[in-house]
Amino acid sequence: MSEARHNWSKEEILEIYNKPLMELLYEAATVHRKNHDPNTVQVSTLLSIKTGGCPEDCGYCPQAARYHTDIKGNDLMAVSQVKAQALRAKASGSSRVCMGAAWRNVKDGPEFDQVLEMVRTINKLDMEVCCTLGMITENQAKRLAEAGLYAYNHNLDTSEDYYKDVISTRAFEDRLDTIENVRKSNVTVCSGGIIGMGEALEDRAGMLVALTSLNPQPESVPINALVAVEGTPMEDIEPISIWEMIRMVATTRIVMPETQVRLSAGRTQMSREGQAMCFFAGANSIFAGDKLLTTPNPDVNEDMAMFKMLGLNPQKPFTKVSQPKTVEATDSQLQAMGEKPKWSRPGHSIERNETAKQKAKIID
Ligand code: SF4
Repeated sequence: MSEARHNWSKEEILEIYNKPLMELLYEAATVHRKNHDPNTVQVSTLLSIKTGGCPEDCGYCPQAARYHTDIKGNDLMAVSQVKAQALRAKASGSSRVCMGAAWRNVKDGPEFDQVLEMVRTINKLDMEVCCTLGMITENQAKRLAEAGLYAYNHNLDTSEDYYKDVISTRAFEDRLDTIENVRKSNVTVCSGGIIGMGEALEDRAGMLVALTSLNPQPESVPINALVAVEGTPMEDIEPISIWEMIRMVATTRIVMPETQVRLSAGRTQMSREGQAMCFFAGANSIFAGDKLLTTPNPDVNEDMAMFKMLGLNPQKPFTKVSQPKTVEATDSQLQAMGEKPKWSRPGHSIERNETAKQKAKIID
């Protein structure tokens, strides 16, 4: 195993990112083989348990209420519905269910209690459970851990510098605070970002500096390519090339040798050959299912056919970390604290976000 380093500089990371491609691939594949089985890929199913109507203004997101997009919102799903979908995901080879809710932050109350019940239910299906619910407090992280949560996803999205050009309703610091709160429980951390949002290469490196400096580093790092959705502030941004994705995956693999690098949004725009190169460069996790929250994703059968062709095997659940024990709600020592945490709201103006908001007002 390689030892994780926490003091990478932006310059060092850029030097890796910009290496001649064959050299970069060789180095990344070597690190990958040293730390992981190169023929095993973890498969997660992403489930949108509460869609749309989000008060935040993330410039890439069709679920933000302030933009006019085609998203059909829905209230929090029933536990029985989630269980049915988890069983389907398990039957098609997924080892993890990741539940996403379009919330700014988690609020104690019946909805959070319902999510805790979903976590217990999926854990009992012997699947890894992940949640992405927005900002959470230490107490909420501990309650999720007790319910049997395996991972919490909270992406840094981009570098601290570029973050201000993407989101105005919360600060980069809030992201780090939530990750710190998760670390105070025994839940693993999933945190990565999106490339192709108009950021500079320095911002991609800056995001990796922030992720690598976390100690421990996240167990899972999703690398997303922007899927530009009509109505969002980023609707006109051209898709990035596959080479940028390959370079980003390879660089992430080199600087975070032990983490699972997750090839996330944007796979529908990638050829099988492109994805194969990403796997060679160190990606060892994907999201399965025809939707990634609200944006398209390859069909699970297509993915399984690709696995067969490439000789890849889906990773069994709890290979890396053992199955968390579930404490029933009735046995819990933890109480809802009803806190009103002071997450920040910088509120600066981002021109393209404002334009998209004004456009939505005219259409709606
Ligand atoms: S990314 Fe999450 S927090 Fe941001 S607008 Fe979308 S649902 Fe809300």
